[in-house]
Amino acid sequence: MIEREQLEMDVVFVGAGPANLAAALHLKNEIKRHDDLVEKGAGKSRKIGNLEIAVIEKGSFVGAHILSGAVMDPIAIRELMPDFLAQGCPVDSVVTEDAAWYLTEKRRFNAPIVPPPLKNKGKYILSLSKMCEWLAEKCEEAGINIFPEFPASEMLYDANDAVIGVRTGDKGIGKDGKHKPNFEPGVDLLAKVTVLGEGSRGSLAKQLTARLGLDDDKEPQVFSIGVKELWEVHGGNFPEGKVVHTLGFPSDTRTYGGGWIYGLKNNVISIGYVTGLDYEDPMIDPHAEFQKFKTHPKIAAILKGGKMIKYGAKSINAGGYYTMPKLYADGVLLVGDCASFLNGQRIKGIHTAIKSGMLAAETILGAFEHEDFSSKTLRYFDEKVNLSWIYDELYRVRNFHGSFQKGRWSGLINSGLQHLTGGMAWGFISKEDHVAGYERMQKLSSKSDGFSRSAQETPKGDTPADGRYAKLAFDKQLTFDKITDVFHAGVAHDEDQPSHLHVLDTEICATRCAEEYANPCQRFCPAAVYEMEFDSKTERNELKVNFSNCVHCKTCDIADPYQIINWVTPEGGGGPNYKGM
Ligand code: SF4
Repeated sequence: MIEREQLEMDVVFVGAGPANLAAALHLKNEIKRHDDLVEKGAGKSRKIGNLEIAVIEKGSFVGAHILSGAVMDPIAIRELMPDFLAQGCPVDSVVTEDAAWYLTEKRRFNAPIVPPPLKNKGKYILSLSKMCEWLAEKCEEAGINIFPEFPASEMLYDANDAVIGVRTGDKGIGKDGKHKPNFEPGVDLLAKVTVLGEGSRGSLAKQLTARLGLDDDKEPQVFSIGVKELWEVHGGNFPEGKVVHTLGFPSDTRTYGGGWIYGLKNNVISIGYVTGLDYEDPMIDPHAEFQKFKTHPKIAAILKGGKMIKYGAKSINAGGYYTMPKLYADGVLLVGDCASFLNGQRIKGIHTAIKSGMLAAETILGAFEHEDFSSKTLRYFDEKVNLSWIYDELYRVRNFHGSFQKGRWSGLINSGLQHLTGGMAWGFISKEDHVAGYERMQKLSSKSDGFSRSAQETPKGDTPADGRYAKLAFDKQLTFDKITDVFHAGVAHDEDQPSHLHVLDTEICATRCAEEYANPCQRFCPAAVYEMEFDSKTERNELKVNFSNCVHCKTCDIADPYQIINWVTPEGGGGPNYKGM
């Protein structure tokens, strides 16, 4: 039995992303405002005083695991901090020009009118990693404890299933499971309120949702994956402040996908590609889709002579309003991406994450005022969300992703109609279409589709020999293999630790999955973590997991058709380094 230290806090925020950092800061500000009113005798009952607030983060520093495009709508940061620019918020550029391109294999069609959801003029292009670093500094100045390298490994509950805090991961366990000389047990962080803001597919949010049934009566969550590179391009190839979104090449019409290019200062661009993780063809490789996107003549011309400087990949909650879990339970709230606050149509979630955090903070203040941390008080979070502009924005696009599950053309027509009618679904979508993304992946034996082939023809994840990627060669100038890209993600994990990727039944990998889907983990993982390797003892291909490559995108936990991959937090500090991404 391991003896663990217990640290008593008032509020613990799990994950130092925009939602939780905004929440912690807003909570501090709101307590001060409340206590000042009490002092002035303005009708408030009692002072709250100095609460112990902690934000814990699995990365080696705040921002290390933060990845986004990113164009930020400033509506929420302005509410949090009206003078955010004067206070040094590290925005890179102001959007001066928008474009929407439709790409065929060789040609580009520039839309004469940019669809309203993709209009970004006046908004800010920034590195979300840098912004979170800055927000963390503001939190520390306000007296909030920030603990990097503190991965939360499990939720703590009382006898009635109320959340009473989190346990952080142990350090110093060898890959054989034995304690190393530097072994340090994780601590139990006890809190009156715990706030999960872990980002897309949070590992604790997953545990909590399953245990308390927070997604009962909700539509299944749908995710996408964004794969991104930062490039330095030749002067004049892409202007600062320009924002381009693309549709078409290389996605087929049944697969949800699109690209972006954002012009930052000093000839740096953010370029990336989103693939819906509800694709049907098991041969799809989102990293290869992105590499192929760059080979389009109009995209390649922008990158010609430039240099790739950084790489990253991350899953995105795309399901929207109908897939939001219940946002509260006794002692706990869920904010930001891990509660599906992202607007999939605008491909934007920073503003909704920040606002969700602020509303959570106001709910927590009320809980301390009434000294009640149960659902009875915390349920007001749900009410606050539904009375805020978050509801107005997300409810209007509640059917957006669902309409693309019937293919690109149905999606485009439907989203146009939705825009005119406040988000109504237009008969293209039936309830049966709302299934979890992984359930849509089709088996290779399926004869009813255009992608059937035998498992023998299938390539390894990083060898685009399959028809879909036949013309793709990784020349290391324009296009990169996964290992080269992973190097540019600055990934580091201590190799002498148990794998944080728990594959619950590897027999399935070697048998059913090999036959039915040709082991799609080799392709959907953007970091070459999963490989099927011939084993002379068993005389068959067995799964090999190169966990130290993992960029923490969570795609495997989401997209595995058998749902037997469980992503858990590795030792604190391990993972990518997205500084400046
Ligand atoms: Fe993403 Fe899973 Fe691959 Fe890690 S192992 S990079 S979480 S798909």
